Amino acid sequence: MPEGHSVHRIANLLGHMFAGHVLDASSPQGRFTDGAKLLNQTMLHRTYARGKHLFAVFDGDRILRVHLGIYGAWDVASATGTTQRAGAAGPQVVTSLGAPRKKRGTNPDLAQENFPPEPVGQVRLRLLDEFFVADLRGPTACEVLNPDEAEAIENRLGPDPLVDGVDAGRQEFVRRMSATSTPVGLALMNQNVVSGIGNVYRAEILFRHRLDPFVPSRSLTDDTLEALWDDWCALLAEGVKTGVMMTRNDLDEEGRQLAFSKTAHRYFVYGRAGEPCRVCGRRVELVVAAARKLYFCPSCQQGAV
Ligand SMILES: [Zn+2]
Repeated sequence: MPEGHSVHRIANLLGHMFAGHVLDASSPQGRFTDGAKLLNQTMLHRTYARGKHLFAVFDGDRILRVHLGIYGAWDVASATGTTQRAGAAGPQVVTSLGAPRKKRGTNPDLAQENFPPEPVGQVRLRLLDEFFVADLRGPTACEVLNPDEAEAIENRLGPDPLVDGVDAGRQEFVRRMSATSTPVGLALMNQNVVSGIGNVYRAEILFRHRLDPFVPSRSLTDDTLEALWDDWCALLAEGVKTGVMMTRNDLDEEGRQLAFSKTAHRYFVYGRAGEPCRVCGRRVELVVAAARKLYFCPSCQQGAV
């Protein structure tokens, strides 16, 4: 499932491509025909993400909300072959953001002679102008809201440092984490407590702070909670910048380059059940908690300071 950094990157890209322009909106698959009609021939003003939710604000107080869920993704193509509006090169794929193609069961080849390319597969929503096309497939949520409805959803969600700011978000994070007796390993995944943290960042942040995933969230001191928030802010900022969830802080430059290119080197514990902990050598453990895999080192992660 795309974590918060991916959704911010998608929001940035779609905003770069489309903000300030009148778009054609359609639902080639047919499952979003009525919603697409509300957006068709309307100007997109801006896009932003709060955690895993993408919001696109169109003229007429119409706000598109998209949650990719596990299988959703955007495929983007350009008439110019670049993310620039000017130019005359042939169309080609600019990028694909979201679930990996092999997990989605589609292999669209958008690099065709003519722009725009024909929709391939189950395209829920196509946004199009004379330079760019963005195809949305497989989202968990795709709907058009009015501002009150969008605000109600945003108010339920926990803080996102890139929306609320680091300082205001920190206070809200501490307040929400302190208000729940849920184990910290589950609270960090609860989007109503904090926005954008998924399974990878959850496991890695807990390891970076040597925290036992099963201690109640409210048992943690404010200092610990503030440190968790600040760490998340730094990881998210780097993830948005690079597109990679780089969570190891024990690497030299050569090690970092290797970790960027190979996921097997990228994480402390995520996806490493049964392998030796990079710090203590004991086997990394895996438990299923709230239907999601939780990786941790039982030796290193005993702290609840
Ligand atoms: Zn360990």
